[in-house]
Formats: sequence, C-alpha cells, structure tokens
Amino acid sequence: MSVLSKPYFHDEAAAFEFVESILWARGPVCPHCGCMGRISAIKPNPEKRVRIGLKKCGDCKKQFTVRIGTIFEESKLPLTKWLQAIFLMCSSKKGVSAHQLHRTLEVTYKTAWFLAHRIREAMRSGDLNPFGMGGATVEVDETFIGNDPDADPPKPGKPRGVRQMMKVVSLVERETGRARSVVIDHYSAGDVAYVVNQNLHREAHLLTDESKFYTRVGRHFASHNTVNHSAGEYVNRQDATIHTNTIEGYFSIFKRGMKGVYQHASKKHLHRYLAEFDFRYSMRAALGVNDQQRANEALRGVVGKRLTYRRIDQRPQA
Ligand SMILES: [Zn+2]
Repeated sequence: MSVLSKPYFHDEAAAFEFVESILWARGPVCPHCGCMGRISAIKPNPEKRVRIGLKKCGDCKKQFTVRIGTIFEESKLPLTKWLQAIFLMCSSKKGVSAHQLHRTLEVTYKTAWFLAHRIREAMRSGDLNPFGMGGATVEVDETFIGNDPDADPPKPGKPRGVRQMMKVVSLVERETGRARSVVIDHYSAGDVAYVVNQNLHREAHLLTDESKFYTRVGRHFASHNTVNHSAGEYVNRQDATIHTNTIEGYFSIFKRGMKGVYQHASKKHLHRYLAEFDFRYSMRAALGVNDQQRANEALRGVVGKRLTYRRIDQRPQA
C-alpha cells in the first residue's frame, strides 16, 4: 500500500465520493436552486449515458454533479486525474512542472498546463484579513525574479538591475506561519507602502531590513524594528527576535522552485505561482500539516473559483 494506491486516484466513482465528502460535508447542495434536502442520486448507467455522480434535485428537478461550479466543471478530464494532480502539487515543496504532470498523468502538455493553473486558483486564499492582528509579528521583504516586460530599460551604461526584474512583496506572520505575496509594478516606497497598508493590521509588530521604503509606512503599526543587512547584520545585536530570516527562508523555497521547477513565469501568471507557494508554505509540514490535509485544503478551494452566472449564496458551502 502507498498513498498513491488510494481508490479515488484510480476509480472514478470513488473519486466522486471523495470529492463529495469534502465539498458537501453537510450533504449535497443543488447548484441550481441552493436546495439541500430532497436530493436523490441517479444510478450511473453508461448505456443510457447516465454519468457517475449524477444527482437530481427534488425541488427544481434539475440534474447536477459535484463538478458544477468548481474548477472541474470546464474540463472533461476524469476526477481521478484531477485528484492525482492536486496531490502531486500539494505534496511537492517546490511545485511540479506542467511537463512533469504531462508525463506522470499521461495527459497532453496543454491539458497539464491548464490543470496546474486551475489548481493554483484553488490554492489561492480568499482570506483578505490583514496579518498582524492581535499584535502578531510580521516580517516583510521584497524579492525579484525574471524579467519585467513593463520596466524601463537601465540607464545608458548601467547594468540591468532589480528594477528590470519582476518585483514581489511578501509578508510572513510568525505566530501562524502564514505567507502572503503581492506583485508590484514599481520598486518604490509608494508601491511597497501600498501593499503593507493593505495587508497589515495596525496592531502588527513589523520587522523589515533597513530599506527606506518602510520608514514612513512603518510608523502606522504597533512597532517597526529593522536589521541592517547592508552592514552585515542578520539578527539585531540587542534583540535576537529582530530578524527577517523567516521571510528569507520563504523566498529561498520560492526561488528554488521557480528556478528548478518552473524555470520561467510570465508576469501575467506570476501571481498564480505566488499563490501556490504561499499556499504550501502557509500549510507546511513544520506547522503540523501533512500532505493529505494540504491536498484536502486545496480541494476545498476548487469551489467558486470559476466565474459563473450563479449567485454566490447559491454556491455549495465548502
Ligand atoms: Zn434544485
């Protein structure tokens, strides 16, 4: 036996049952009218083209499966392959390339690419609550990656610098271990301060490096302490809790993943890769989350990530 021998990775009916148990923990919900009772299962019958997992609502008489209203709705791929892909992406610390998914799942590269991006959407946290509530400690820093197609070229005679790369501001809350990353357009105090103000609670204890970008915005929070990286200081000499080593650790996983696994990300998709790394980091093994729990959490996120005509209050509760 291994994790990969679980029936829902191989048997479509088992896959439906598993997805239903996660998305419909309180019983099936009709995506057409929002009804929760009076839902009956229709026995699958390939001869009459009755699909696996088909349900009928006793209220509105319409039929549906658990795929409706989720990232699974727009694809014909069996749920077993979706579950395999979700598990692979959730259990690999630095991610899984579309090429690898293409080979392992035996789907086309195009399908694998599509799958991976839909799963990144499922991993995207809908949590807009600021970090640092209740006086939590938040490390904030910037990182740079690849090429920013919108950036001005370097001044004549000057080499390419961080301004010509894509720019990311990330926050890590020490108490919960959560990470959140945002792509910014300009390497400026304005863009950095905007992200900090949007994502940090006034009660937060902010920790950054000595960058001037944080000086002004840092005054809005309970405290703001810095380490002077350019002077070779990585932990504050007076207070060993003042450092940004947690966020540096996060960036190193992100960079190893982006270089080693994904190799190239366009600016258009960078926020999706960041959502993937934020998700895994926020639910990492060191926080007591195992691969299965992480995969189940991603699965809960498949709902409502697709734009549909349905009203939000009619979506199944996950
Ligand atoms: Zn209904």
